[in-house]
Amino acid sequence: MNATPRNAAPIAIAGGGIGGLACALALARHGFQSIVLEQAAEFGEAGVGLQVAPNALSVLDALGVGEAAKKNALLIERLVMMDAVTGAEVVNIPCGRRFIERFGNPYAVAHRADIHGALLGACRAHDLIALRNDCRVLDFAVEEPGVSIALRQGECVAAQALVGADGIYSNVRKRILGDGDPVPVGAIIYRATIPADEMPKDLQHSYPMFWAGPGWHIIYYPVRDGTVFNLGGTVVTSQTWLNDAEDVPPHHVLPQFPGSCATPLRVLRIPKRFRRYVIRHREPVENWSAGPATLLGDAAHPMVQYIAQGAAMALEDAICLAGAVHEQDGDCAKAFQRYQDARIVRTARVQLSSLMMDRLNHAKGVERKVRNSLFEGRTPEEFYDRLAWLYTPLPYVK
Ligand SMILES: Cc1cc2nc3c(=O)[nH]c(=O)nc-3n(C[C@H](O)[C@H](O)[C@H](O)COP(=O)(O)OP(=O)(O)OC[C@H]3O[C@@H](n4cnc5c(N)ncnc54)[C@H](O)[C@@H]3O)c2cc1C
Repeated sequence: MNATPRNAAPIAIAGGGIGGLACALALARHGFQSIVLEQAAEFGEAGVGLQVAPNALSVLDALGVGEAAKKNALLIERLVMMDAVTGAEVVNIPCGRRFIERFGNPYAVAHRADIHGALLGACRAHDLIALRNDCRVLDFAVEEPGVSIALRQGECVAAQALVGADGIYSNVRKRILGDGDPVPVGAIIYRATIPADEMPKDLQHSYPMFWAGPGWHIIYYPVRDGTVFNLGGTVVTSQTWLNDAEDVPPHHVLPQFPGSCATPLRVLRIPKRFRRYVIRHREPVENWSAGPATLLGDAAHPMVQYIAQGAAMALEDAICLAGAVHEQDGDCAKAFQRYQDARIVRTARVQLSSLMMDRLNHAKGVERKVRNSLFEGRTPEEFYDRLAWLYTPLPYVK
């Protein structure tokens, strides 16, 4: 591996999540050294399940970790939406050969740790990447010719530039944009895991089961060789005063899913405890960069999870940003502007599209019937045409 960096001082990356690690790896593959500053005591990924759409898999392939990421992932055979009121199938999109030919990759579901672990392994093996844990970034200042980054423990790190990949509560964003905390979107999610031996055989499927109910939806799918199922139940609510995350017992959860046929309730009755999260987001912005500092992933464009694209967008950001730094021969201020120009409309479209899914996923009454009629008789190719803008690999993913 070539250990002579093209940049004299490293590019600092705040946050070692999927976005931050992908950014470090993408930069290293172009010969640029970086230092990843992660606040946690260890590098790792919270949460269990992750849907990895073909556009995300194409980035992982381009970063050389596609095989490792897919090793323990389940390549799913279809995407479905079921009407939780009637039990009828609303959407059925085959994800087999024709899907793969169209988008260059399958659709996978995976354990978050497996995707993060594939990136982490590759970062650890690269001489141009330094990984530092226990390093919470508090703030930064532009100090020509680079940036000075203040860490929680009082240390200052000097770097050529700074990429804020520090998630939805980004401190780097506070300095660049100062636009306050992300706001509750008006929904909460109850998450749980179910061991496969507790999941009735007739409810086990080799693809995500998505039940759309009136004012709520649930989704569950197997991860880790089908040994465990990841379950998320989202409820539209005005209770934005709730704590951001807390454990809740099952008797609290079930009444939040009214008007349902029997099957989704059978799944919801299995977990012995749930963790409840308030879902937050931000509206798209027109700028997220300032000279040698920029944002990436949830720090730049946090979105609701309704089209399962947040991590995918962070991965695309990473490869786009590194490509821009390469093309600008290490001039980060110029490169960050190019990167932002290339990414802002796409990520805003995904943010807004995710929000619009709220209406489809949680429709009630006649709106529910309209939703179902919209999808009636749609062929796989017609679905693929509508998904092409999202799933087709972008020119800079190579
Ligand atoms: C319920 C739910 C389901 C989802 N499902 C999917 C899905 O199926 N598919 C998909 O593509 N996306 C999904 N997403 C979105 C996805 O999880 C995020 O978009 C993605 O993890 C963003 O990655 P990131 O690296 O930008 O941020 P994060 O994953 O949040 O990583 C940020 C990292 O920065 C660290 N950090 C934070 N602050 C600091 C600081 N000040 N200094 C240093 N380090 C810091 C954190 O510890 C963390 O390691 C889902 C989100 C939710 C809420």
